[in-house]
Amino acid sequence: MSPRTKPRQRRSPSEESRRRRAARQKVRTDAQRFWAKVQVPPEGDDVSCWPWTAAVNAKGYGVFFFGSRLDGSRRTVLAHRFAWELVNGPLPDGIVLLHSCDTPACVRHGIPGTQADNVADMIAKGRNVLPPGRRVAA
Ligand SMILES: [Zn+2]
Repeated sequence: MSPRTKPRQRRSPSEESRRRRAARQKVRTDAQRFWAKVQVPPEGDDVSCWPWTAAVNAKGYGVFFFGSRLDGSRRTVLAHRFAWELVNGPLPDGIVLLHSCDTPACVRHGIPGTQADNVADMIAKGRNVLPPGRRVAA
């Protein structure tokens, strides 16, 4: 074995695996990145919430970033909305997702409704906070 080929053979496998790892990370889809941040319960559990384990906003709703800053495609979406649209397709304009489980970080229990439904639901559950004498226009 010549002195020139020996170091090359030692170095080559790790460079190759680094390249492969980089290639894998590049082709990971937004959906794959998304589901990696959801704590999905064991198979057979059809009831429990699916908590979002990454960033949340001030109200406790999961937020998910996708796209690239480089090409201007960077977007921030609510995690439960992203999950619903992954499974069911785009939500129409003006439709919000209500949480049937009242757990903001849950990405499983979203139910489409209007903002009026959302307000009515909040009032029914005693979660509206309004100044005295004010009523919510539904
Ligand atoms: Zn839930």
